[in-house]
Amino acid sequence: MRRLRSSKFRPFIRETTLDVKDLICPVFVDETISEPFEINSMPGYFRHPLETVADEASSILELGIPAVILFGIPEKKDETGSHACGDDDVVQKAVRAIKQQVGDDLIVMTDLCLCEYTSHGHCGIVNEKQEILNDPTLEILAKTAVSHTRAGADIVAPSGMMDGMVGAIRRALDDNDFKDIPIMSYAAKYCSAFYGPFREAAGSGYAFGDRASYQMDPGNADEALREVALDIEEGADIIMVKPALPYLDIIYRVKKKFKMPTAAYHVSGEYAMIKAAAQNGWLDERGVVYESLISIKRAGADMILTYFAKDMARELNSE
Ligand SMILES: [Zn+2]
Repeated sequence: MRRLRSSKFRPFIRETTLDVKDLICPVFVDETISEPFEINSMPGYFRHPLETVADEASSILELGIPAVILFGIPEKKDETGSHACGDDDVVQKAVRAIKQQVGDDLIVMTDLCLCEYTSHGHCGIVNEKQEILNDPTLEILAKTAVSHTRAGADIVAPSGMMDGMVGAIRRALDDNDFKDIPIMSYAAKYCSAFYGPFREAAGSGYAFGDRASYQMDPGNADEALREVALDIEEGADIIMVKPALPYLDIIYRVKKKFKMPTAAYHVSGEYAMIKAAAQNGWLDERGVVYESLISIKRAGADMILTYFAKDMARELNSE
């Protein structure tokens, strides 16, 4: 076996490769700031104001990264997340700014959920008993999807794990003449402690309870396949598994069974772990990032949402 392990042959026989085109870069756009703001638990990662979000998008495209996914932090939150779906809300404004400055070469995806917009921080609207109301939430998600698309979004990405969300959004897009807009569904999204830093990044910590009534139990794998099957049936074009590294078996099974374009979200906690260890001199950041992302690809992901997208792109471009 060692005959082909020399530096001459190694790249030649490599089975899985990582490409800049595999990367999707998350971008936080914050209506309440006027300068980029570094996220405490995600060293080196920033929230961007509306004024400079298009510059950030353009620097991402210059690195050859094909897509961004936008997360909005609104000025005002309320019980029903009503500032998610207006044409002049934060994500809609950001999409228009990016499209105007960067043009159509960059794929602009929008994360579609209510948790950044509700005062209680849950992904759906809640009643007085603090229960999440599934179907009334679907109406708001559908309306939000249409407004994102009207602003110029290329792909909408519902992440709230409400039952029937993909179908509701597909119908709304079709009814509004957006038949060509694909849906990337967060199909198998686990109830994970790895999202901790994201909640600071997106200002979406929750006021009560947890998200276990709608996100998946980490102990379940067959259930992930049922979730993904339902989303495909409802019209999902790309399916996602989230988080990535602790769920490589899920990525593998989903890809093997459905053979759909499959995305994996290398989440904020996965980023923070590597950063913290690297800052302490305990791990080699470059090596660990490459190995993490290539293993996600090897498991079956076609595309990876990662906070290391820009760093990895720089690395790959310099090879
Ligand atoms: Zn959410």
